[in-house]
Amino acid sequence: MRKLYITRKLPEEVLTKLSASFSIRMWDKEDQPVPRHTLEKEVEDIDGLLCLLTDNIDSHLISKSKKLKIISNMAVGYNNIDMEAANERNIMVTNTPGVLTETTADLTFALLMATARRLVESSNYLRDGNWKTWSLMMLTGQDIFGATLGIIGLGNIGEAVARRAQGFSMKTLYYNRSRKYDVEKELNIIYTDLETLLKESDFVCVMTPYTKETEHLIGKEQLGLMKESAILINTARGGIVDEQALYEALKSKKIWGAGLDVIEKEPIDLNHSLLTLPNVILLPHIGSASVKTRTAMADIAVTNLINGLTGEGTIHLVK
Ligand code: NAP
Repeated sequence: MRKLYITRKLPEEVLTKLSASFSIRMWDKEDQPVPRHTLEKEVEDIDGLLCLLTDNIDSHLISKSKKLKIISNMAVGYNNIDMEAANERNIMVTNTPGVLTETTADLTFALLMATARRLVESSNYLRDGNWKTWSLMMLTGQDIFGATLGIIGLGNIGEAVARRAQGFSMKTLYYNRSRKYDVEKELNIIYTDLETLLKESDFVCVMTPYTKETEHLIGKEQLGLMKESAILINTARGGIVDEQALYEALKSKKIWGAGLDVIEKEPIDLNHSLLTLPNVILLPHIGSASVKTRTAMADIAVTNLINGLTGEGTIHLVK
């Protein structure tokens, strides 16, 4: 029987799909990643690996596995996997696109609104007993309706965010390496270069994958181009934004605020400088975290694994 290793506890109903045809070992803790030394040992004799974005599947780990044929990543991003090392060994790598697009776009828009209207700060203000009276400028934020939204990376999620922005009569700009003429027409959105987008947007939303090319795509220079009233939203990957530069821009009020679902080193160190600032909302990477979507992601990751190993049906192969 072919052997599989699963790096986090999965729902029973998803597992039963695998148990008939494969021998399964699984790290059974829901809230802790598998330790590196355990993973290194577990991959030695397996045919298939189902992993999460918290697992670093680097060339060293891949070299430990002698028979591995497929790595099924339960995420749309796959920057946790050394693609070169996988390709060299002809190991298939799959992801879970599609099912999490709308859920992540919901969270992106929720974070945009929460940051603009200071929801977390306002709730804490009330709970801390500071609400003594109504006052004219108390906890005032930024308007969303009619504002300009700039989306960097108009892919599946970026496009879904642009659709939500229509409901708020936002003017939407986008920057990609390639233009999407059909989407421009359908959603009445405007293609610009990165510099123009940064200068003109009230909300800058980062939605690219994390690659060598996008690492620190938003740094001191780019933050310097943004409006003082502007808000940066990042629900893509932490490494796309230079956090030190962001901290300085927020601290010096060069930009107005930031909403981040992702951070360069996750989980966040509680001494992280960004946690000292009131004008940033930080979330623990919950973009796709709805019950329905997380279950669907597990289901797709399992289907990728089965189909990849049996050679039947389709899989979501990444480049
Ligand atoms: P996608 O459909 O592949 O879209 C990515 C977009 O980024 C494409 O339009 C691509 O267009 C653009 N892009 C790539 N490289 C670029 C560059 N160097 N400069 C400018 N634009 C660039 O991916 P998606 O499904 O929308 O997801 C985007 C990312 O969100 C994922 O890679 C993942 O890391 C992250 N994500 C986070 C969560 C969460 O829980 N917070 C959930 C899901 C996804 P061009 O190739 O034309 O440039």
